Amino acid sequence: MGSVSLVSAALRRLEGKVALITGGSSGIGESTARLFAKHGAKVVIADIQDELGHSVCNDLKTESASFVHCDVTQEKDVENAVSTAVSRHGKLDIMFNNAGIIEKTAKPNILDNDKAEFEKVVGVNLVGAFLGTKHAARVMIPARRGSIISTASVCGTIGGVATHAYTSSKHGIIGLMRNTAVELGQHGIRVNCVSPYHVSTPMVKDFLKLNYDDEEKLVYCNLKDAVQKAEDIAEAFLFLGSDESNYVSGLNLIVDGGFTIVNPGFCMFPQ
Ligand code: NAD
Repeated sequence: MGSVSLVSAALRRLEGKVALITGGSSGIGESTARLFAKHGAKVVIADIQDELGHSVCNDLKTESASFVHCDVTQEKDVENAVSTAVSRHGKLDIMFNNAGIIEKTAKPNILDNDKAEFEKVVGVNLVGAFLGTKHAARVMIPARRGSIISTASVCGTIGGVATHAYTSSKHGIIGLMRNTAVELGQHGIRVNCVSPYHVSTPMVKDFLKLNYDDEEKLVYCNLKDAVQKAEDIAEAFLFLGSDESNYVSGLNLIVDGGFTIVNPGFCMFPQ
């Protein structure tokens, strides 16, 4: 490979790949759609926010970015989104299960928690990822390759950071990822997830505004002065979607600036 093509390969790490991104109209999904497109991927955004999704695609200024309406809790929608990506581009290389929600208000006492609200959060975050994994597998198994990635959270590893429903759903995503990685590895398909900490997206801003007086104080990070941005998370998804992670499967890649490795209440180093 000549030096010019080496440079362009480094700049376009997803050249020719087709990616379907749920929850791609906003926040982490939107940043990832932008980064994937920059790296040469054909991107299909699947979301319930149609107008926003279309405007992200227009902004990408490439014909290979498009939108499909999809509510991830509806199997028909997810099936259609996967089939749409395949009919538009001939295949699916990367399935990114990212759509997620949290309850509007935190109810720390389980006795105040409502079954319907619990099921709604689990329905989007976990059942949505299950449906995405299932329908991606449907088209990836015959191709004998593919990368399925989901957005988990530090709440999938530790307790006490978010609501019961959200925490349960994110633990569930990690379990689903591990189990499907075992099964789908037999077909050459890699399955992984990324666990971010705190990124100031519309979902998180709304939640903190409604539930805490001083949201600044809540954001603890072990990396001095580091503020996690959606772009930082997108880089982790880029790695897992690209061939650079060819031998990586069953991984929960925690991207949290060290948040989950330390208890600041008991630490021998000054925090
Ligand atoms: P966001 O609100 O900016 O984006 C979420 C997207 O999901 C939106 O575009 C929304 O329309 C879409 N969505 C919601 N319900 C849907 C449904 N039923 N079907 C299809 N799309 C739906 O929030 P975000 O922070 O970018 O969240 C993205 C993912 O990252 C979520 O899974 C979230 O749990 C996870 N996460 C976020 C943080 C954070 O600090 N922001 C931390 C850890 C994990």
